[in-house]
Amino acid sequence: MVGWQQEQWLHHCRDAAEFHGAVGANELATTPDALEHLRLTSAGSGWSAGDSDWYLRTLSKAGPVTAYLFRCRHCGSHLAYSDSA
Ligand SMILES: [Zn+2]
Repeated sequence: MVGWQQEQWLHHCRDAAEFHGAVGANELATTPDALEHLRLTSAGSGWSAGDSDWYLRTLSKAGPVTAYLFRCRHCGSHLAYSDSA
């Protein structure tokens, strides 16, 4: 597998966020704040906007590239990470 990382747990508002499971591009379309979070993360990895757009569109709940959705228990923001970004 390419870009596999250890499992991560996202935090927000100085607390651990609630885990909401695996998501793909379709699910992320309903949580634009999580999508934006992923986009910022991939931009931080040095990806171009075109690369991250392409990557975000390939995300699928069933894999091979999956994102994991979290929700802050304090402010309700959605966050996400993916295997490669
Ligand atoms: Zn928060």
